[in-house]
Amino acid sequence: MDGYNIKPIFKRKIMSLTNKAAVVTGASKGLGRAIAKRLAQEGCNLALVARSAEALAQLANELITEHGIKAHAFAVDLSCTEATLQCAEQIQATFGAVDILINNAGSGYYKPFMEHTPAEHDAIIDVNIKAAIHLSYALLPSMLERRQGHIINIASDLSTRPLGNMAVYAASKFALRGFSLSLLQEVQKHGIKVSLLNPGIIDTCFNNNTPGNQSAQQALQPDALAETVFQMLTQPQFQLIDELTVHAQPSPNNQD
Ligand code: NAP
Repeated sequence: MDGYNIKPIFKRKIMSLTNKAAVVTGASKGLGRAIAKRLAQEGCNLALVARSAEALAQLANELITEHGIKAHAFAVDLSCTEATLQCAEQIQATFGAVDILINNAGSGYYKPFMEHTPAEHDAIIDVNIKAAIHLSYALLPSMLERRQGHIINIASDLSTRPLGNMAVYAASKFALRGFSLSLLQEVQKHGIKVSLLNPGIIDTCFNNNTPGNQSAQQALQPDALAETVFQMLTQPQFQLIDELTVHAQPSPNNQD
């Protein structure tokens, strides 16, 4: 571009993900699936977690064939604490130590608070915050022992601002933000990184959306956001993205 002659001040020596073991929750579709695919491209071995056994098994086979990595499907309902902790045990038995935990699984409904059912309150809180806490608790010891590891919590821009019709969801994401930034203070000195990603609207099945319905003007694309997760994971060892908010950027041609 004319007038811009920007030279990199140093060459970034990125962290390699090859042969690392990563857990990606909510890997059956949407952002989690895109993250799993991006990490597989880097030679990262994967524990794929969600409820949809068939979607996970298909993805695992696809990634094994395309990238020659190890990928295992763990079909589990993360709203159940016992099942979540058992899943963490199975993952560690399968992979040995886990290097990366991406707490991505989540659910939410855009509707008035009084139209939510108590079962929906539980589903949102149990998956969006409690499962992230339980998995971190179960997988951190082996990270602490090796003095390395990275937990990335996928929150939302609603982790820092209110939105009517999403009260319980916003509460869960505010909690996830508090957990993520506070846990970081405890474990950072032991060589562990904890990061929080706050996306705006993403073009996925979330809240009963049909992918493709959200115009590129309004929504982030899962593949592009997965690239952002890759960037967060591959920062130099001496550098940490502790919190990052990402929104769709409207095209200048369509602005009022
Ligand atoms: P999505 O397409 O609906 O995917 C959600 C994932 O979470 C699925 O893989 C789903 O798998 C899994 N999941 C939900 N409940 C589960 C449970 N009880 N047990 C295990 N897995 C469960 O939504 P997404 O947009 O990719 O969402 C990914 C993350 O981004 C979520 O944390 C969400 O809150 C956050 N986020 C989304 C948006 C957005 O506009 N889409 C914006 C900001 C933040 P199964 O159904 O197979 O269990």
